[in-house]
Amino acid sequence: MLTTTHQAETKPNIIVMIADGMGPAFVTAYRKYLDDHATPEVEPIAFDDILTGTAKTDLHDHEHHTLTDSAASATAIATGLKTYYEAIAVDLEYKPIKTTMEIAREMGYQTGIVVLSRVNHATPASFISHNKSRNNYKDLANQYIDDRINGKPKLDIIFGGGYKHFIRKDRNIIAELNQLGYQSALSWDTLEAITELPAIALLAEKGLPYEIDSPVKGRLSKLTEKALGLLDTEKPFYMMIEGSQIDWCGHNNDIACTMHEMADFEETLKIVKAFVADNPNTLFVLTSDHSTGGLTVGANHLLIYDGPKLKYQWIRDFIQPIKASVKAIARDLLHAQADWYTRWLELTSIPLTKAEQQAFTALIIGYEVANPITLDDLTDDHREQLRALMLQINGMINGRSYTGWTTGGHTGVDVNVYSMGKYAERFRGNMDNTKIGLIIKDVLTQSD
Ligand code: MG
Ligand code: ZN
Repeated sequence: MLTTTHQAETKPNIIVMIADGMGPAFVTAYRKYLDDHATPEVEPIAFDDILTGTAKTDLHDHEHHTLTDSAASATAIATGLKTYYEAIAVDLEYKPIKTTMEIAREMGYQTGIVVLSRVNHATPASFISHNKSRNNYKDLANQYIDDRINGKPKLDIIFGGGYKHFIRKDRNIIAELNQLGYQSALSWDTLEAITELPAIALLAEKGLPYEIDSPVKGRLSKLTEKALGLLDTEKPFYMMIEGSQIDWCGHNNDIACTMHEMADFEETLKIVKAFVADNPNTLFVLTSDHSTGGLTVGANHLLIYDGPKLKYQWIRDFIQPIKASVKAIARDLLHAQADWYTRWLELTSIPLTKAEQQAFTALIIGYEVANPITLDDLTDDHREQLRALMLQINGMINGRSYTGWTTGGHTGVDVNVYSMGKYAERFRGNMDNTKIGLIIKDVLTQSD
């Protein structure tokens, strides 16, 4: 249960939500995905009434026209600093730049990160650690315990995945944190046993499974509700909540996976909005670090032009029945071998023409793989095969639904900015993403 805080005289709570990779088209697609066809209007979603602006995501590096990544963009949001690709809260000379979460910590705030990636992944790491490169996972994990403010680690709540970085041959950071008084959980079952802060819950070796494939549904909303319920209501807090995997589904050009991540993120947003409504002394801002995949709502119509019957469409009805990520469907089909088409229909409900079935058969038969498997277990041959099959599957789902993707990478469009609660009016208009960090810094350091 969420409780109401009374802190009229105190500093505001700060909640930053980041939808990794969620360009504006993702929000449109998700709204249409949920639409009740029986009514004339497309019903609003939880994002719509708190849209306040848009953000530019440019890096420091204009010269090479490099687009941003999650590290540089999260650094902008967490510190107000414009930096280089892959930087974790350091400037161009690799000098650490204090993050707003660190400033809040020094002021006695409770602090937390709730994510679906490994907890030392680029986005969360940029709020609380410093490194030349996002790829130094071991250093970043070490910083979560070794770097101290007022003698204590910097985070009270560390929820997400990534235990392989914390329980290692050379060091067991979970055990070390336990000795410092942290409660811990390494599974959803034991998460229940966490009753007070500080706490660390790492629920997967690396990232959590995609929402669409996960046996536990509503991963981010469950973790967020748990985190909010553990806070001491007498003290302000700063929490960063990330929908980490919208980006990953986007990289895979997997629209069903994307919609399920959006659903978990929207559920989480509803919980946060209710909290902010009950606790108006909260600064709440939501944005994305960049857009991923170049998602287009209605695509490839010239390619399928069929004369006078042509209509521009985006047909979510082909997406809603899909039961697994493209990656999981590909693995399942390779495992099913001769029975692949039965399995295909179970997982997608999309009938294939004879010619389409032949194309699938050529990619499946003879490439049997053990189940369950991870990508790391595959031989190079099989990995290529899996990739080819994923492309084939994407072709069917994106083709039937007229979903477009232009890249497996990031794009440079502006992203949406949402805000409610105290200071929401400051996040209006088009801004550089560094402004988000600068506003938070200002709110923390100015006396009101
Ligand atoms: Mg991320
Ligand atoms: Zn990405």
